[in-house]
Amino acid sequence: MKRETIAIHGGFDSDPTTKAVAVPIYQTVAYSFDSAEHGAALFNLEVEGFRYSRISNPTTDVLEQRVTELEGGVGSLSVSSGQTALYYAALNATEMGRNIVSVPQLYGTTYTLFAHILPKLGVQVRFAKSDRAADLEALIDDNTRAMFCETVGNPAGNVCDLEALATVAHRHHMPLIVDNTVATPMLVRPVDYGADVVIHSLTKFMGGHGTTLGGIVVDCGTFSWSDNAARYPMFTQPDESYHGLVYTEHYGAAAFIGRCRSVYQRTMGAVLSPMSAFLLLQGIETVALRVDRHVENARKVAEFLRNNSRVESVNFAGFADNPYHSLVQKYLGGRACSLMTFEIRGGLTAAMRFYDALRLFKRLVNLGDAKSLACHPASTTHRQMSPAEQLAAGVAPGGIRLSVGIEHIDDILADLDQALKLAVG
Ligand SMILES: *Cc1c(COP(=O)(O)O)cnc(C)c1O
Repeated sequence: MKRETIAIHGGFDSDPTTKAVAVPIYQTVAYSFDSAEHGAALFNLEVEGFRYSRISNPTTDVLEQRVTELEGGVGSLSVSSGQTALYYAALNATEMGRNIVSVPQLYGTTYTLFAHILPKLGVQVRFAKSDRAADLEALIDDNTRAMFCETVGNPAGNVCDLEALATVAHRHHMPLIVDNTVATPMLVRPVDYGADVVIHSLTKFMGGHGTTLGGIVVDCGTFSWSDNAARYPMFTQPDESYHGLVYTEHYGAAAFIGRCRSVYQRTMGAVLSPMSAFLLLQGIETVALRVDRHVENARKVAEFLRNNSRVESVNFAGFADNPYHSLVQKYLGGRACSLMTFEIRGGLTAAMRFYDALRLFKRLVNLGDAKSLACHPASTTHRQMSPAEQLAAGVAPGGIRLSVGIEHIDDILADLDQALKLAVG
């Protein structure tokens, strides 16, 4: 089925016991065993079923199946936030002494996780000098175990050449992990271009209403851990923490996500609540429609800003003269995302005046909400970075990032117009 249909029906027909058509919220911690033998078989992973909601739950299970189908994967693990998804995926692919090679344009907290937290656990992240495949390849050594990028960087707005990055990753026998939060599977399915693991902050466009935090790790099932057994013993050797389970034997193509759940979710426990899974499922039902409107409104906003004498520059990948324009055509079907940054005439002071003058746009640090949102990355999401790190991540001191919502375009433009006039005069 097409993605528009999967977004509504994926992973759920009707409730097997009650015939309920809406996905029920299974607000339960545990599930009873038919017998001692049944309990033991469940714990031995010999039979399918639910044991304890830290491991899996029927409501989060529907969400996982739906996103798996949307992304064309073989299995998913939903977690409490996008950050947890990134953390688990990074830990799952590496061990102490190994490293990950990443593009430099990243969501601020992802950068902090990579630059400051993972190294304390013995996993280095090497940031390439650009998002070009050759620049990432130059950093790969014998200890590199994964490559990482965001399909569309937040807030830089760069579009990564997924096919080129996947080619390099596979040439060096490692998976490509892609954060597809900003693009969503409505604009691109990274697996179609060679990605092996896909991450989402479901908090953003997928949920779409700014009500619920959630994240997911999708296993595309494309990377062969068995063919690279010496490099990834955690998937191919018996796991002592799970009475000798071998993930590639037990889970086959879904070994990555099987281990993610059995090791990280089971022992660290950053679960998504069934209520949150329900709310995210409600959002996902309309993601196709919302993304259409986000994209359409964003283009009009970008053009309005570019033609406005009070605006210095607009960074919008949808413009024909944007360096990423051809990648927008190739990967996003010409539909640039509704994130953009722009610089106002008059620098930081004018930017702050503009920001304070907004009425419809919310001043906050979120994106992908139905509402139009504005953020000043340098003082908020990317504040932990040094000025040099900020520039490398595509964050200018006076830059304003917009996440264009799905309101009527006239009201969106009117708000920007009045704020620009107040800020620049
Ligand atoms: C928001 C975001 C995250 C983090 O997600 P949370 O759900 O807020 O933890 C990760 N990556 C990208 C690209 C994001 O926009």
